[in-house]
Amino acid sequence: MAERREVSDSKQTQPDDRAQAAQCSELSRRRMLHLATKAGTAAIALSSVSTLGGCSSSAQKLIKKKGGALGQPIPADPITYTRTPSPVYRPTYTPPTKTPEIKTTLPLSSIPSFVIARTKWTSATPKRWLADSMTTIRRITIHHDAIMPVPTGSYADSLRRMNLIRRGHLNNGWADIGYHFAIDPSGRIWQARPLELQGAHVKDHNPGNLGIVVFGNYEKMRPTQATLNSVNKMVAYAMQRFNVPLTNVHTHQELRNTACPGRFLQEQMLRTRARGGKLALAVGNQASHS
Ligand SMILES: [Zn+2]
Repeated sequence: MAERREVSDSKQTQPDDRAQAAQCSELSRRRMLHLATKAGTAAIALSSVSTLGGCSSSAQKLIKKKGGALGQPIPADPITYTRTPSPVYRPTYTPPTKTPEIKTTLPLSSIPSFVIARTKWTSATPKRWLADSMTTIRRITIHHDAIMPVPTGSYADSLRRMNLIRRGHLNNGWADIGYHFAIDPSGRIWQARPLELQGAHVKDHNPGNLGIVVFGNYEKMRPTQATLNSVNKMVAYAMQRFNVPLTNVHTHQELRNTACPGRFLQEQMLRTRARGGKLALAVGNQASHS
C-alpha cells in the first residue's frame, strides 16, 4: 500500500547500504592496523588486513514453505499470521561481470513496449505541480494494493482498479497514483505515474524510488504465476535500464513497518531475489543470500 505524504521527504534518503558497509569495513581495517602496529608487527598486520572480509551480517531467515497453489485464495479466517519484524534482506552484492544493456539514452518518459501506456487507459494527466521531479532511479519497491476481491484478470476489471486507485490517491491530495507501474492477475503491466515524477509510495523513501504495485491482497491469497512473471520482467527491465543493483530491490515491509506486500508476495520476492531465483538469474545472478 502507498503511504501518505507526497512531497518534502527528498532530504531524508536512506543511507546507501554499500557505503555503510564500506565504512564499517574500513573501520575494521584501521583498528586491526592500529593494534598490530602498536605491537610492532606491522608486517603481520598488513597481511591480516588483506584477509578481513568486512562486518558480519545476520543470516537471512528462510521463509517456511507453505502449501497451496499460486493464484488460489487462502482458506477463510482465522488468519493466524501476526506481523513480526520483516526478515532483513541482505544479499551479498557482487558487481555484474558484464555491463548490462543499459538504455541510458532513453528519456524517463519512455516506457517499454510490454507496458500499457498511461495514455491508453486514461486521458487524465497527473497534477505535476504537486509532485517532486525524479531524475535518477536507484531503487525499486514492490507493493500490493490490499484491495479485495482481486480483479478477475479482464482488461475492463483492471481498468476499473486503476481508476479506483487513482481516485483514492487524488483524494489524498497527491499528484496521481503513487506508484509508477501496476501489475494485474493476468500479468498485464500498466503505466501509472510517469517516471519523471517522484512516486508517493514509501514514506521517507520516495526519492529515486520506482514503485510497483500488484493488484490484490497477498495477506489473504497467493499471487498468480502470470503476476510473478510480470514482476520479474518489470523489475529486471528497470534494474538493467537504470543500473539498480539487486540489493536495492525492496518490498515495502523491508523499508517501513507494514505488512505490504503481504506474506505470500513477500515470500515470493525473497525467493526470486535469492541466488538461483528467477530475478537473480534474469540479471546475471548478481546477488546471493543464504
Ligand atoms: Zn506498500
